[in-house]
Amino acid sequence: MRLTDHDLRQIDEAYLEGLSPEALREVSKRLCQDLKEARERLNQTPENSSRPPSTRAPWAAAANETEAEEHEEKQAAAEGAEPKQDLGAEDESPKEPKVKGEAEAKPSDSQRKPGKQPGAPGHGRTQHLPVTGELVHRAEQCSACGQVLDEDAPFVACTGHYVLDIEWGDEAAPGIRVTHVKHLYGDTGCGCGHQTRRLPQRAEKDVQWSVEISEWHLVGPGLMALIVCLALRMRLSRARIRELLGTWLGITLATGTLNQCVHEAAHAVLPVEAQLIDEVNRAELLHGDETSWKEAGKGLWLWVFTSTAVTFYLIGYRTRQLLDNLLGEAFAGWLMSDGYQAYRAYRKRLRCWAHLVRKARGLEESLVKSSQRFGKQTLELLHALMQAVYEAREGPGEDLKAKHQRQLDAFRGCCERYRDAEHEKTRQLAREFLNDWEAIFAVLSHPQLPLTNNQAECALRHWVILRKLCFGTRTEQGSRALGLLASVIDTCHQRRVSPWTYLAEVIRRRRQGGDAPPLPAAA
Ligand SMILES: [Zn+2]
Repeated sequence: MRLTDHDLRQIDEAYLEGLSPEALREVSKRLCQDLKEARERLNQTPENSSRPPSTRAPWAAAANETEAEEHEEKQAAAEGAEPKQDLGAEDESPKEPKVKGEAEAKPSDSQRKPGKQPGAPGHGRTQHLPVTGELVHRAEQCSACGQVLDEDAPFVACTGHYVLDIEWGDEAAPGIRVTHVKHLYGDTGCGCGHQTRRLPQRAEKDVQWSVEISEWHLVGPGLMALIVCLALRMRLSRARIRELLGTWLGITLATGTLNQCVHEAAHAVLPVEAQLIDEVNRAELLHGDETSWKEAGKGLWLWVFTSTAVTFYLIGYRTRQLLDNLLGEAFAGWLMSDGYQAYRAYRKRLRCWAHLVRKARGLEESLVKSSQRFGKQTLELLHALMQAVYEAREGPGEDLKAKHQRQLDAFRGCCERYRDAEHEKTRQLAREFLNDWEAIFAVLSHPQLPLTNNQAECALRHWVILRKLCFGTRTEQGSRALGLLASVIDTCHQRRVSPWTYLAEVIRRRRQGGDAPPLPAAA
């Protein structure tokens, strides 16, 4: 335990003179330890300390913006590029030139940062709720002589604050109950004459997150989890959350407080990110997908990586670099994905057949005869092989690749013929098959593997609706918070454990300066 300024102010010659030999030895031990720690902290440099060097996300390392954009362009220009059509359309529009002359001179509304402006008057809490309880936070041990302080040791409160929280009911009395508890902190006296002060705790500042994790905050861990649930799971706007809390629970909170809650919760689960990434890398089968995302008008991507045990989201650029940073050398599983080229580096890769079937169906309906024929041939092959895969899953494992070699060879010849077809969609599909041949037909040698990327697409669906409602995120931290919380929520659901009790527990422990408990195992 580190000695506080309050402790040191009390330790003087007069105090030491009055101590018994045992107490004096104990105090010296503590002073010595504290001095050594202080000296070491003084000598700490980035080279010898374990403090994280920056706030960059692990997948963003070394991928600065211009690099990323250049990379993206290069990728798009490369031969056989498969345009992302489903959701990306609105993001491809070129940046509009600035027309407003005055915008340069003074900050316009659009340049203004969201939220409270610097210097603007703040709003105090106006709600007066009845107090449902009082909690005295006493020191349990003398910080100078180490004596255990029992219940009747004299206590003088020096500060306090209120915490608004909810309590979950149980089977006997279900529902939730609002609590409004007065927390008192102060000095507990010891026989040695020392007063040990206990103040509200906070997590050590490990990154430059704008909202700190602290017991000082008004909103308790349970209510905070509820707010995250309403914002991200129920997709309610901040205004709707205020309305719900006000009309149903009688709680009045400012919009700024709601935002802080989401950011503090995300900050609290930040240490869990490493566990999520580790589990993603250890997956035997991973589904990956991405959809466009706006961050303060900037066109980014919401990525998802999901296995049977874990789902991980992140918002970032759509680059090979990002994939490499996330999926390290350690990743040796199968990767199911769409046609995006960055995935091509992975040896054990699978392609979603539903996408290919859809494209082939489009060709079948084309007005060009040869394209119709190619579409029909593709569909016939895919349907026959799908049937074979279903049957192989039931029966003894046989290599369907060898069994259907003749059909595959014939189809490959067909693709070769169409690779320079005049009809664009025909040409694209023929090249897609040729470029991704191994990945597309890998499932024939491993029929127990999936045929579609349905799992990743399902995972993204919820967040696509959220994006449409809230128009994306506004800051880098907001994007990071969303990815983190979405990952925790969906992973907990996969494991059939409540994300909300877990989240509340993480917040509670982190506020006391402890570690975040690891993600729970499947129930
Ligand atoms: Zn003492």
